Amino acid sequence: MQYELSYWERESFFKDIDVAVIGSGIVGLAAAIYLKKLDPSLQVAILERGTCPLARAPEMQASPASAP
Ligand SMILES: Cc1cc2nc3c(=O)[nH]c(=O)nc-3n(C[C@H](O)[C@H](O)[C@H](O)COP(=O)(O)OP(=O)(O)OC[C@H]3O[C@@H](n4cnc5c(N)ncnc54)[C@H](O)[C@@H]3O)c2cc1C
Repeated sequence: MQYELSYWERESFFKDIDVAVIGSGIVGLAAAIYLKKLDPSLQVAILERGTCPLARAPEMQASPASAP
């Protein structure tokens, strides 16, 4: 599915990013924090495909249909 970004999304979320971290699991968040500590001026964006940090990949989570 292709998603068209709005003007505001492009201008506020995705402008002047130095580093894009894919995934907001513990590894992604730790990497983002570490990068900011190394260089506080870096603009770091964390891109998460889920609606919130999931702690583990959605494909590894049990679906309601498979629950006992
Ligand atoms: C059933 C289960 C139980 C567990 N229980 C424990 C426990 O009790 N204690 C413990 O310490 N550990 C536990 N673990 C292990 C722990 O969850 C993982 O080790 C840890 O979450 C791995 O972190 P990660 O950042 O590498 O990956 P993840 O936590 O999986 O984070 C990766 C993130 O990246 C996102 N992502 C993936 N692809 C994309 C993409 N293309 N674009 C954008 N975002 C993307 C995912 O949605 C996800 O949020 C458990 C794991 C499982 C499967």
